[in-house]
Amino acid sequence: MQLTSTYRSPWMTEELDDVRDLARTFFEKESVPNHDRWAEQHQVDREFWNAAGQAGLLCMAIPEEYGGGGGTFAHEAVVMEEQAAAGDDAFGYSVHSTIVAPYIYRYGTEEQKQRWLPKLATGELVGAIAMTEPGAGSDLQNLRTSGRLDGDHYVINGSKTFITNGSHANLIIIVTRTGDEGGKGLSLVVAETDGLDGFERGRVLKKIGMPGQDTRELFFADMRVPKDNVLGGEEGQAFIQLMEQLPQERLIIAVAAAKGMEVAVEQTVAYAKERQAFGRELMKFQNTRFVLAECATEARAVRTLVDHCIQQHLLGELDASTASMAKWYATEKQCEVIDRCLQVFGGYGYMLEYPIARAYAAARVQKIYGGTNEIMKELIARTL
Ligand SMILES: Cc1cc2nc3c(=O)[nH]c(=O)nc-3n(C[C@H](O)[C@H](O)[C@H](O)COP(=O)(O)OP(=O)(O)OC[C@H]3O[C@@H](n4cnc5c(N)ncnc54)[C@H](O)[C@@H]3O)c2cc1C
Repeated sequence: MQLTSTYRSPWMTEELDDVRDLARTFFEKESVPNHDRWAEQHQVDREFWNAAGQAGLLCMAIPEEYGGGGGTFAHEAVVMEEQAAAGDDAFGYSVHSTIVAPYIYRYGTEEQKQRWLPKLATGELVGAIAMTEPGAGSDLQNLRTSGRLDGDHYVINGSKTFITNGSHANLIIIVTRTGDEGGKGLSLVVAETDGLDGFERGRVLKKIGMPGQDTRELFFADMRVPKDNVLGGEEGQAFIQLMEQLPQERLIIAVAAAKGMEVAVEQTVAYAKERQAFGRELMKFQNTRFVLAECATEARAVRTLVDHCIQQHLLGELDASTASMAKWYATEKQCEVIDRCLQVFGGYGYMLEYPIARAYAAARVQKIYGGTNEIMKELIARTL
């Protein structure tokens, strides 16, 4: 508790303290006891989504008139931090609440917002976003999943891969080619997949970390989705919509990284004060002290950058380049710091029953998804 007790994020308020207490209690009670089981079944229980909705933790930044919590991104950040603090790497909360719901709120027609947001807030609908394809990840302009107009429906063919919430999702935003080559031919088509012909979930992908998260392939074979389900009612807007939402998507990864580092350092300090070698605590060795002093400093540096970005974002002033800086820097440091912390645990650090081992495996993907760190640097460099 050392790291966080001496520092308070400048965007925190008393109301957010209450949200934090609520989220902490929820994750400790409803999530922590299930981690091993979720890891084995490669998904959280479906009812967990409804429980999170019931607790008021889903879609906190969506206005109350659409069933949300009426809060801000800060509310979502607090929930993500408490999820990270609980060591829950299974629940696809951020995709659902901080990516899918904002897309619908920001770009949806009034009818779409009324239809989908309240159900996302209760957990009746679970959201996913399907961009990545086997042949195109970073290079979004080359996506091939196609939507051919036939009467008042799109006939969608193609496949997506690495889709978070792939088992439970029943409201999926699919980046679909409805027009010509390039970015201008892409649309966000929202598929309501319960009972939808032509929709198939592929295998659950086996990952090196986050075993409880349902990451899947999705297949579309002549899948008919009403034309009215194109987000915002207008074709060809996907690229602009995606670009506009990227700062928040990058920031949420940085938020998780900052908390992940703090948790790792706290756990390692506690271990180093307890574990004995050569007749004294690990913490008495100068090397351990120096390693942890450096890791704590790195964690604080990332924290202040992320807090700056959260403040800018709350003011509506977070630019894409700064968000990219936060994403690459926070995730690089997260992986470095967790690796160094793991070393302090010795062989126990390599055992999955120790949270540091799971955190190490989970952290690695942070440098890859949400736009790889190489793409982040390209984006930053373009603004120099
Ligand atoms: C656990 C997990 C969950 C995910 N969840 C989702 C999800 O919910 N929805 C979704 O749509 N996607 C999801 N993804 C996919 C993720 O966003 C992509 O993996 C990522 O965007 C990279 O795409 P790629 O894997 O095709 O790699 P590629 O684009 O093939 O990149 C391979 C390598 O080449 C580098 N590279 C590519 N282009 C350039 C360039 N211009 N300059 C320099 N280097 C370059 C990359 O940085 C990378 O190192 C998830 C991935 C994982 C692993």
